[in-house]
Amino acid sequence: MTDIKSMTVSQLQDLMVHLGDKPFRAKQIYGWMHGKLAASYDEMTNLPKSLREKLKEEYPLTVLEPVDVQVSRHDGTRKYLFRLYDGNVIESVLMKYRHGNSVCISSQVGCRMGCRFCASTIGGLTRNLLPSEMLDQIYRIQTLTGERVSNVVVMGTGEPLDNYDNLLRFIEILTSEEGLNISQRNLTVSTCGLVPMIERLAEEKLQITLALSLHAPNDKKRQELMPIARKYSMEEVLNACREYFQKTGRRITFEYSLVRGVNDFPEDAKELAGRIKDMNCHVNLIPVNPIKERDYRQATHQAVENFKIKLEKCGINVTIRREMGSDIDGACGQLRKRFIDKRESIKTDRK
Ligand code: SAH
Repeated sequence: MTDIKSMTVSQLQDLMVHLGDKPFRAKQIYGWMHGKLAASYDEMTNLPKSLREKLKEEYPLTVLEPVDVQVSRHDGTRKYLFRLYDGNVIESVLMKYRHGNSVCISSQVGCRMGCRFCASTIGGLTRNLLPSEMLDQIYRIQTLTGERVSNVVVMGTGEPLDNYDNLLRFIEILTSEEGLNISQRNLTVSTCGLVPMIERLAEEKLQITLALSLHAPNDKKRQELMPIARKYSMEEVLNACREYFQKTGRRITFEYSLVRGVNDFPEDAKELAGRIKDMNCHVNLIPVNPIKERDYRQATHQAVENFKIKLEKCGINVTIRREMGSDIDGACGQLRKRFIDKRESIKTDRK
């Protein structure tokens, strides 16, 4: 099946020719899908009825169906669970900041990277998301809330660089003038560190922010938390980040989830600083969000503060990520996992 909502304008032009219609219709359809966020062909009132009918039959529009939403009483963070056309479910989060609304989207159904503290990877990878499915998480949230989304972070379930081509198409459409026209600088892509893909991304010369999930000061500790660290050494990952900065001029964000008694020691901060102090970077400290499947505990408030101070003394820029929506299945993949577990248990009950 052709996914019309993942097509570029020029692909849509070819499609119009193929359907025996006028190429200028391509821009109209594109504008309806990506600018006006139409959820059906019926809304596309300036298209001839016959064309709408043909498209409806042969090129169904991707529209995600909200099945659950949780709203944080603390800060208004909203966590959405969406159903895809094939019954799979994914999570997306809307966070409200003073500078605007930010949406965190998923890039895959599940994940195969296996990071030890992450709930999204427990069931493995089911499939990649299509560009249209990444886009529609933002489109539906903007439509449901009636509020403009100004920032997008690809930090939900999945490894975006493991779904590279679809990610790039997603970026192209999201940042296009006829689409939501979100600036590349307002888009962050987070990766666990797939070195060849970071190198490839650097070549694209985009102005997006790359966030690198580091979580450790050395290979030994990183390997305990992240299986991918057995494939690429920390030095290789850091070199790929240096290259990304050289080619794009964009400062790297390192994400560091602090796990009590694992990677939150002052020596860890010192070692980390030594390895990245030559880089144009910024460290985002995140007290790990404990998940019930693992016994990792959150670093204490004091340990997080000390870690920050230690890094700052070494001249590193540091922020502590504000915990958003901590009352609503905060950690990545928890809402989805709970939904699936519940669905499975209902199925078992019926047997
Ligand atoms: N696969 C990508 C993007 C998705 S995960 C990546 O690894 O970067 C987004 C971020 O959340 C990553 O830094 C990830 O390591 C972190 N993360 C996942 N589960 C977490 C948890 N339970 N507590 C804190 N951070 C977590």
